[in-house]
This record gives sequence, structure tokens and C-alpha cells, in this order.
Amino acid sequence: MAGSSAASNSFAPIGRSEVERIVRQVALEYLAKGNNIAAPVLTVQASSRHMHVCREDLDTLFGPGTELTFDRPLFQEGNFAAKETVTIVGPRSRLISNLRILGPMRKQSQVELAFTDAIMLGFNDLPVRLSGDIAGTPGAVIIGPKGVVELKQGVIRAAIHVHMNPAEAAHFGVSKGDRMNLRIGGDAGLTFNNVHVRIDDKARLNVHMDTDEANACGLHLTKDIELYK
Ligand SMILES: [Zn+2]
Repeated sequence: MAGSSAASNSFAPIGRSEVERIVRQVALEYLAKGNNIAAPVLTVQASSRHMHVCREDLDTLFGPGTELTFDRPLFQEGNFAAKETVTIVGPRSRLISNLRILGPMRKQSQVELAFTDAIMLGFNDLPVRLSGDIAGTPGAVIIGPKGVVELKQGVIRAAIHVHMNPAEAAHFGVSKGDRMNLRIGGDAGLTFNNVHVRIDDKARLNVHMDTDEANACGLHLTKDIELYK
């Protein structure tokens, strides 16, 4: 007692109990961080219909050398909603205007629609695909301010999926290509059983569903959400 009191008076600017308090706090914060890694925070987002464009199609639609104009960031780092929009014409000559382009540019153009959009445009069996997997999918006519592109393929309903980094994948015990379950609670709640796992070093944990899926499960009505293997 005496030693500790003398030390705190003559040498240390703070007392032993204060040091212990700080150590405890730092340790708790450290543990809390560890817990965050162990139980990452999940966000679920509804993606409205949109288009990804390749260099060649952007040139045709908006003029040679056009760059996408940043409008707002998306949850996944580096992705953004562009100011540019186009019009899509479907097989029944019906159209949807103000179809938003998402950046950055891709190697191939692709349009992601909800089933409701697809039926409205006349696509009766729009394939459900992961982004980028567009072989054998229907095409469409895309109209921009400077030109028209006839996509041979690339119109899909995006399969519901979850983005995560390798540490998060380890936490859930899943690998690329696995499918998980997503339970949405609440009055209109339901469970999705085919949530595709996509793993990327820079990914932030989040589920992407389309507007039909989000409306069906009342995503906006609840915070009771659970992702499990
Ligand atoms: Zn996604």
C-alpha cells in the first residue's frame, strides 16, 4: 500500500487504480473489436433495376470517350450510381426509361431487372443469374442520348447474393459458390434459401436482393434479419 502510494505520488502522474481502469477499458475495446470480427454487422439492400456498361456501348450510347459521371457511392467500395441513364426496349416494344447506369465500367454490358420489370417489358422467362454470368440470356435494345445499342445478351434477374471478405466467410464457415439462408422477420417475413456467397478481399458484408424480393418480404418493415449457413 505504502509503496504503491509513494510511486503514484512521486513518479507516476496517474495512480495504479487509474492505470488498471485504462488497461481494463483498452482490453474491453480490444475484445469488442474481436467480437465485431466474429459477428460482423449485416446490411441487406434492395437493388433497383440498373445497367452496367462496357466501353464500346458507353461510346455508342453517350458519345466516344464518355466517362461515367459519379452521382452517389454504393455500399461496396468503388461502386457508384452514375448520373447517366438509358432507356430499355423489351420484346413487346414496351420500354422503361431512366434505367440507371452503375459504375465502374465492366467488360460486358448487363441489365439487371426485377421480375416485375421483366414481365412489363415482355421477358417471360428471364433467367436468374449471378452478375457476369450472361451466356444465353436475352438481349434488348438500349437507347442513349447519342445512339442505340442492340444487346445480343445480358438481361438477367440478379440472383440474391451476399458479399463478404475472407474473414467473414471464415466466420460463417462458407466458401465461394455456397448458398446461405437469409431469414427476414416481421409481418411479411420470409426466408430466402439460395443466397449465393460471393467473396472478395475488399468486400463489405451485405446482401443484395432486388426490389421484388425486398417488397415481398417487407424488408423496410423489420430489423429482424438473420444470415446463416
Ligand atoms: Zn451485389
